[in-house]
Amino acid sequence: MKIDSISAIDVGNIEEEYRYILQIPCEQCKFKGTFKLNLQSLIFEENQPYDKLDCQCQNCGAKKSFIFDISNFFGKLF
Ligand SMILES: [Zn+2]
Repeated sequence: MKIDSISAIDVGNIEEEYRYILQIPCEQCKFKGTFKLNLQSLIFEENQPYDKLDCQCQNCGAKKSFIFDISNFFGKLF
């Protein structure tokens, strides 16, 4: 898959990713903090590491994927 580097969210650690998804309101039901992580995958695009979080709203079932730029800390923890 092709990652749009503009839409990738810059984070400093994994905890920031989880905090981020809880701040984003669901586009469908407008509820906040309802996204639950279904699948987390590590992706490399042009040698840059990205974390993809496939989430689902626990309220209405809407699915949303978040892409995080983890180049700030990737390699320091793994
Ligand atoms: Zn929803």
